[in-house]
Amino acid sequence: MVTAFHLGLLVPLLAAGSQADPGPYIHLDRLSPRVALVCWPGLDRRCNLTVIASQKGLVIIDTEASPRLMAPIKKKIEQTFHRTDWTYVINTHAHDNHASGNVLFPGAVIVGHENLVQDMQWLIRRRTDPDRKRREVDRYHTILRDLRAALPRYAANPPYARLIRSDLIFYDLFVQDLQQGYEVVPPALTFSDKHTLDLGDLTLELIFFGKGHSASDILIYVPQERLLVSGAIAYQRYRVPEIGEESHLEDVHRFLAVLDRLLADEVKIEHVIPGHSVPLPRAVLPPIRDYYQRMLKEVAAARQQGLTLDETTKLLTLRAKFPAFRDPPPHTYGWDHQERNVRNLWRILAEDQPAPQPAPAQP
Ligand SMILES: [Zn+2]
Repeated sequence: MVTAFHLGLLVPLLAAGSQADPGPYIHLDRLSPRVALVCWPGLDRRCNLTVIASQKGLVIIDTEASPRLMAPIKKKIEQTFHRTDWTYVINTHAHDNHASGNVLFPGAVIVGHENLVQDMQWLIRRRTDPDRKRREVDRYHTILRDLRAALPRYAANPPYARLIRSDLIFYDLFVQDLQQGYEVVPPALTFSDKHTLDLGDLTLELIFFGKGHSASDILIYVPQERLLVSGAIAYQRYRVPEIGEESHLEDVHRFLAVLDRLLADEVKIEHVIPGHSVPLPRAVLPPIRDYYQRMLKEVAAARQQGLTLDETTKLLTLRAKFPAFRDPPPHTYGWDHQERNVRNLWRILAEDQPAPQPAPAQP
């Protein structure tokens, strides 16, 4: 889970405990008769789960941060659609609020990119490495303590206090799962490039984006609903796209090819469901494609001109060059991503154009 806590802002609460009912805090919005968007928002935490009700069964895209968190969400979905015939679970990637509730869908086929199994290993290490587990449990106990302490200060701000109460229930359940451990269920159906799921009245086109935000990021396009579930590719509005430590030149070229294909005239997209914000319009996609194109061009030009990495980083700020995106507040998640992207693209271009080797000494 990507959680950036601003402890200064945290306000607290009562002792919402494990007995509290999560139901009222879970939002379910129907985007159409067949599609719903579900999330359990908190102060600085929202992860979208997309539900698709097809002729061949229910499909869920992403499964939250742990089984105890997924369970009330699943219940709400089943009550809304009056059915329980889960047929596919799709994980957009392996960060933990996207793939940690898989175990609750024993009858469904879990689907993901072929790198997903490897990407999930950290979830298993967190459970089996005692030091790591203790650090994580301590971290969330601290978060819970700070939330409880903050709650009374927000008595005059009911919407904010409600978010704190939501977080208290969420993290209380989460830490129970961390302490007791839960089964990490890998995908049974994987693919490398793209894969289509035929659901009778709907088709889901699963597309590997390339190694960027993670090594297993996929997008899901549903043409009959004009819907694109973008996972972390459009993370939220204004969030800079990513070029990761695992990205190579072929990945950056893949980002561009995938986005070009999705932006073709024949592809009809009305709703983009990002990983972590309200739905966005198609108009958020061209700036992402243009970002990767311009970054490639500008970093390559800077290298050719003999600029240093430092000089290039100072030149290619979001404010100066990419006004469609904004830096998050300092030290919150993603605040240093533009600097990281320049550094990674610099490394990628260096890999692709290794410095000339000195000629071997003449005998
Ligand atoms: Zn992620």
